[in-house]
Amino acid sequence: MAPQYLSGDKAAIEEFIDRFDVFLFDCDGVLWSGDHLFPNVPETIKMLKARGKQLVFVTNNSTKSRADYKKKFDKLGIPAEVDEVFGSSYSAAVYIKRILQLPSPKNKVFVLGESGVEQELDAEGVPHIGGTDPAFRRDIEPEDFVKLGDGSALDPDVGVVLSGLDFHMNYLKMATALQYVQRGAIFLATNIDSTLPMAGSLFPGAGSSGAGLVKAVGREPLSLGKPSQAMMDAVEGKFKFDRSRTCMVGDRLNTDIQFGIDGKLGGTLAVLTGVNKKEEFLAEGAKTVPMAYVDALGDLLV
Ligand code: PLP
Ligand code: CA
Repeated sequence: MAPQYLSGDKAAIEEFIDRFDVFLFDCDGVLWSGDHLFPNVPETIKMLKARGKQLVFVTNNSTKSRADYKKKFDKLGIPAEVDEVFGSSYSAAVYIKRILQLPSPKNKVFVLGESGVEQELDAEGVPHIGGTDPAFRRDIEPEDFVKLGDGSALDPDVGVVLSGLDFHMNYLKMATALQYVQRGAIFLATNIDSTLPMAGSLFPGAGSSGAGLVKAVGREPLSLGKPSQAMMDAVEGKFKFDRSRTCMVGDRLNTDIQFGIDGKLGGTLAVLTGVNKKEEFLAEGAKTVPMAYVDALGDLLV
């Protein structure tokens, strides 16, 4: 069905909002772009909360923890609590801790990623190595091949490899991660976005920084970010909502909107302030089509 255009149509907006008790919000491209807050966003969030809606901020950005996000919400004046933020690092940490329930000490995680991943693993009490450790931020040496090959450089307790966006990705990390997967470690990713928007352009995302490892392993990791339903299940497990009364709001068709469609949510709402343009979902035969769209989130404030 063709998506409904809501901007400027007060009656249609009221009717749309009334259909849902819960709104899952993507962050970048919906609330802000980088550090630039979009118009009327805090007011729109306040309005939805005042109407008793439950809001969850579901972001694929694994480089930041939920606590980092809370700081950003505070700085930009958006009323949100840590507990309302559900990032892909947190999603992965919860999955490892509560779903995998690996026996200690084989529950140690080898991290490809930034401090956001480490903070969320720490918060769940999951031991980890790699990540931001400077010992892995160096060139590989000939003796590394020997020690990785014979296993003497490997930690026998590592049972999971978790791949997130790593601004310091290098051959040593990739080679180490591959050894762990070859020895039976579970292969996970925080998210697999091909790109991320920054400074008005697109840059390689977590799926791109981890692509070399995926090629070497020969199979895809289980992703704990949008559009993976492992993330939806984790969000639902925490917030216990009725999917038919829940709406996913996002700017990106292949992550946010697909996430809502695959999760059989009652609604999906696209905003045009981010990655995708309306022509991409209005086109004949478009793969991922939202239920409704607005030019910007602030248009809901009528
Ligand atoms: N990953 C990274 C590292 C990012 O910086 C961003 C956006 O800032 C994203 C993913 C996408 O985040 P979101 O799901 O909030 O659009
Ligand atoms: Ca987004």
